[in-house]
Amino acid sequence: MNRRRWFVGKKMAAWCRMILMILLAADLGVSLLAGPKGGSGRRQEYAGQRAVSAAVKKLPAAEEMTIGPPEEAAAEEAAAEEAAAEEAAAEEAAAEETAVEGTAAKKTVALTFDDGPHPVFTPKLLDGLRKRRVCASFFLIGQNIDGNEEIVRQMYADGHLIGNHSQNHLQLTSGNAEDACAQIRYTNEKIREITGQEPDYIRPPFGSWSDELGSLIPMTVALWNLDPLDWKTQDRAAVVRYVENHAEDGSIILLHDVYESSVEAALEIIDTLTAEGYNFVTVDEMLIE
Ligand SMILES: [Zn+2]
Repeated sequence: MNRRRWFVGKKMAAWCRMILMILLAADLGVSLLAGPKGGSGRRQEYAGQRAVSAAVKKLPAAEEMTIGPPEEAAAEEAAAEEAAAEEAAAEEAAAEETAVEGTAAKKTVALTFDDGPHPVFTPKLLDGLRKRRVCASFFLIGQNIDGNEEIVRQMYADGHLIGNHSQNHLQLTSGNAEDACAQIRYTNEKIREITGQEPDYIRPPFGSWSDELGSLIPMTVALWNLDPLDWKTQDRAAVVRYVENHAEDGSIILLHDVYESSVEAALEIIDTLTAEGYNFVTVDEMLIE
C-alpha cells in the first residue's frame, strides 16, 4: 500500500511539475506574443510563435508540452511561410518587370543620312530633330557643302555627328588609291573649314572600302545594317513601315536627307520608335558599344 501511495504521490508531483511548467511556458508565450510594446499584427504574432517554439525546445522534459494544438500552430506557420513566399515571388516579378523596362530603355538605334547637305530638306530635317531632341549622323558629299555652309554649321551646333561621304560620290575602290584619298581629303577639309574639326568617320559611297584604303586613311568606317531603300522608293509610308518592322537594338538606319519623303519618314520613325522605348544615338556612340 505504501508503495502504491508513494507511486500516486510521485505521479501527483509529476503532474504538478508539468502544470507549473505549462503555466510558466504560457506566461512566457503571452509576454512574447504581446511584443515589446504590446503591439499586435501578423508579423509580430508570427515572430512570437517562432520564439515560443524555440523556447519550448530549450526546456528539458517539455517536448510533449504544447501551447495550443500543434496542428494549428504548424498550419499557421505554414500559412505565414506561404504568404512570405508569395510576397517574395511578387517582389521578384516586380523586379523582373523593372529589368524588362530597363532593357527597353537601353535599346538604341542610330539614324544616318547620306548625300547631303540639301538646301531645303536638310534644314527641315534639322528642325524636326531639334524639336525631338534627337541627334543623328550626317555623311556629307564635299561638293554639296558649297553654298550650304550655314546648314553644316547648324548641324554641328546642334550636336550631330558629321562624317565624310567623299567629294562627289565616287566609288572609292573603283580607281587608284590616290584619287580616293584626294576625294576624302577634299571633304575633310571642307568640313574642317566650317566646324574647326576634321571628321573621324567615313561612310564610303556604296559601302565600298578596301584594306589598302584602310591603311592609308586613318578614319573609322561607319557602315549600316538597316537599309529601307528610301532613295529607290521615295515613298514615306513604305520607308516608315520597313524601318518600324525591322528596327532592333543596334540598328544603324541608312537614309538620305536629299529626299523630302526620307526626311518626313525619319521624323515619323523617331516618334514611333521613341514611343516603343528606343533611344537615338550617333554612330560613334553605337560603335563604341
Ligand atoms: Zn551615298
